Formats: sequence, C-alpha cells, structure tokens
Amino acid sequence: MPTFLVTDPAFLGYDSPDHPDSSKRLRGILDDLERRPLWREVSPLPARPVTHEELVAVHSPAMVDAVEKACQSGYGFIDADTPVSPETLVAAWAAAGGVLQAIDAVMREGGNAFCLVRPPGHHAGPDQAMAFCLFNNVAVGARYAQRRHGCARVAIIDWDIHHGNGTQDTFYTDGSVFYLSLHRSPYFPETGRSDETGTGPGAGCTLNIPLPFKTSREEYLAAFRRGLAAIEAFHPEFILVSAGFDAHRQDPIGGWCLETTDYATLTAAVTDLADRCCQGRVVSVLEGGYHPDALPESIANHLEALRKALPAA
Ligand SMILES: [Zn+2]
Repeated sequence: MPTFLVTDPAFLGYDSPDHPDSSKRLRGILDDLERRPLWREVSPLPARPVTHEELVAVHSPAMVDAVEKACQSGYGFIDADTPVSPETLVAAWAAAGGVLQAIDAVMREGGNAFCLVRPPGHHAGPDQAMAFCLFNNVAVGARYAQRRHGCARVAIIDWDIHHGNGTQDTFYTDGSVFYLSLHRSPYFPETGRSDETGTGPGAGCTLNIPLPFKTSREEYLAAFRRGLAAIEAFHPEFILVSAGFDAHRQDPIGGWCLETTDYATLTAAVTDLADRCCQGRVVSVLEGGYHPDALPESIANHLEALRKALPAA
C-alpha cells in the first residue's frame, strides 16, 4: 500500500518578503526529501483546485468571497500576518484541494498520505482568514471525507505548537468531528483552554491539552497518548493530522520541547491508532514549522514513519 505525497508547483509560486512561510521554506523541504531513498518509496500525487462548494462546507460564502477578492485585488495583507496575492489564492485552492486528492487516494487504494502544502490552514475559521492561513485545509478535508466518502466520524489531531482555533471553531458544536490539540499555553492565539470541550451535540468532542513552556518531551508524549486514547473511544473512521513542526526545540517561532525523532514517535502512535480503528486511514497536512534544518528532518521522520506503518508494496 502506498504512502502518498501531495506536492504541486502552486505551493512554490507565491512569496512575501521576509515572511516565515516562504517558498524557500518549502523548497528546502523538497530538496532534502529528494536526496533521501524515501523519496522513491512514496507515491507522488498532484493537487487540484478545491471547489467553491467544498469550501463553503466549512467557510461562510462571505468569508470565501472576501478572501478571494482580497487575493485577486493584488498584493497586500488580509491581516497583520497573512499576505495575499493572486498567486497565493491559486496555492490556497490547491492546498485544500490537495488534501481532498489525498483523501480520495487513501479511500480508493488504502495507505496513508502527507500533504506538503502551503499556505497552512488551522487558524482559518468559518468566518475569517488568520495568521498565515486562508482556508482551513484540514477542516475542508474532514467535511469532504464525510460527504464524499460517508465517513460518519472523523478525528483531527493537531500537534502544531499553536492552538488550531479555526479548526476548533468549525466543529465546536458538531459532534461528528473530534478535535484534539496539544499546544503551548499561554501562547498565540490564546485559545484552547482545557475547559473548551465543545457544546451541544459537540460536547466532549474538543480536547485541548494546553501545556506550559517548561514541558518536557516525556510529559508531552504522555499527554499525546492520553489524547489519542480519547480519540480511540470516539471510533473515528478517518484521521487527519494538522502536522506543524514548530514545537521542535530549534524552531525560530515555537522553540519548544520536541526533538526531530519525536515526530516519528508521534506518527507511529497515530498510525497504530488508525490501524486499530480505521484501516490505517491517515492523511497528514503541513501546518507550521520554520527551522531550515530541523523542519526538513522532522518531516522526513514523519514521512518515514507513515511509510513504515504500511506493509511493503
Ligand atoms: Zn504553528
């Protein structure tokens, strides 16, 4: 069974001077991966543009309109941290659509996938783009897995150092999507308290594990396993990962507690869970991570662990 890797030239096709999410960042990841034997062991998958209908399953039509107009009107910022341009919009459509391609491939052929996309998505909520994120790639993917493939319950595991406030907001009252986030707290965006657990039909389907700056790797990994146990009890039929790598100890934005090899450990714990509850179906999606060396190495550890979770082809 294959491990799919979603890449697309659109993700290298936009930039903003001095922004942490630069095309150079992605180029560095690709250059590193291309030098590894692993590169020949994964199945490349091109992205496709997400459709308007797929976007409005998560975002309000007014939000989608506002993002598209801001991008098409030229070069600027939609908020203090989030550059927009016509080329950024093409990439944002491909980032969300790439996740959907990966979901289709995993549902069709089995295996798992990593989507090497930008811009990231987990801060984008139903009504607003925010903090490098235009559309919420993972949230759009969760709705698509439900509507296109009939997966009744979907779990999202978010190990980016920042809380995925946009993802939480999308599914807070839902009940059919479980959102787990481990994040540094207090920290941007200052959401994700442990008492934010969902409301209405969504009660109990949001699990925030905020952790202080001085958390050790051991404490982090133990907390992660606690989170996965809650997901197992939810019986998901598909698992999506918001895979940020900015909790790495060398990351210039996050700079927290994890080592490169911890991303293999986190990944193996997720694939073990997926084997038990959903035939190994995992689609992982790049969020943050900014160190020029630690990021590619962490991603290689992640991708290798996805590959190792599957029987050899
Ligand atoms: Zn982040």
